[in-house]
Amino acid sequence: MKKRIIILGCTGSIGQSTIELVREFPDLFEIVGLQANTNEQKLLELAKEFSCTQLCLTGKNIGADVLNSRIIFYGKSSVNNLIKNTDADIVVNGISGAAGLIPSVTTLECGKNLALANKETMVLAGNIINKIAEENNVKILPVDSEHSAIFSLIEKCGKDNIANITITASGGPFKNLTKEELNEVTLEQALNHPTWNMGPKITIDSATLANKGLEVIEANQLFGLSAEKINVVIHPQSLIHSLVQTKDGQFYAQISKPDMRHPILSALTYPEIVENSLEQVDFSKPFSMEFQPPRYENFPMLKLAFDALKKGNSYPIVYNAANEIAVVAFRNKQIKFTDIAKAVENVMNFDWSKTCTTIEEVVEVDCEARNKTLTALKELN
Ligand code: MG
Repeated sequence: MKKRIIILGCTGSIGQSTIELVREFPDLFEIVGLQANTNEQKLLELAKEFSCTQLCLTGKNIGADVLNSRIIFYGKSSVNNLIKNTDADIVVNGISGAAGLIPSVTTLECGKNLALANKETMVLAGNIINKIAEENNVKILPVDSEHSAIFSLIEKCGKDNIANITITASGGPFKNLTKEELNEVTLEQALNHPTWNMGPKITIDSATLANKGLEVIEANQLFGLSAEKINVVIHPQSLIHSLVQTKDGQFYAQISKPDMRHPILSALTYPEIVENSLEQVDFSKPFSMEFQPPRYENFPMLKLAFDALKKGNSYPIVYNAANEIAVVAFRNKQIKFTDIAKAVENVMNFDWSKTCTTIEEVVEVDCEARNKTLTALKELN
């Protein structure tokens, strides 16, 4: 039987990669629901191509409309109705940023498996999310390439045998720049990622290493490993997507071309492994793989993520919220590249030791952190 898929963020980079896989495997998958934020035309094109009738556009004001003989529901909460009212086996959450949290909650509460590309879900509310998944007896299948790698390596090696994990990072476009040079980088340079082709927010996060920071926190929540058991290594070729080390000291790595369709396919077909036509690593030609430790002093966003993880409580929420706001300011050319980390650090200096036990509390802290960041940004200027 075909797996019925809802794609959230269907016009974004994860959504598009998922759609390519559905085109390649029409016998395995069926698209039953689509969500986009603002790109209505693309949403309708996809709906037509896949004969999908359950549609929503969350970036428009509330309501509904009939377009090209299809009903589209509008408004922020329409995504929850889409998830609730559509029979599906799995929801791919490719929404960017904290906006992906509530749709993840709804997915799990409705008893649907979650193919999770939205790392903020685990960063903001990992404890709550894990509990909801357990209560509803559904799986969280990581789509982030590093976490997909670790997920399958842990399954293969056995959780009890894992001593620690090593998350690889491409290092982004600025991995070799000095502190002084980093001070002068432009938005255009930050948007030019050497190995991955992704949306603008995550591309900038890759340049500051905030993306890796978020992934460290995400790994902690997904795999229940403490900060001390999570390492990061710069690996510019992005061929090894992460490693685990077993108790006997051996390292195991997952290797594939940097193409998000690999981890998405793993999540969609789990627990099966299927043949496919994606480009593979070719050992018949020479190539090399390099590794270097991260330069924490020049990329403070990575260090701040470990700080947030060690402090726990609401600090990870604040780390993410402050970064989202600071990145918007950088994209609007209101602040410098290096100001992103300064703003985040300033906001994290407040007392965030409150523990959130409900999603409402998470949203509250998130909101407060965003407001404090706006103030911190004004003080930087
Ligand atoms: Mg990643």
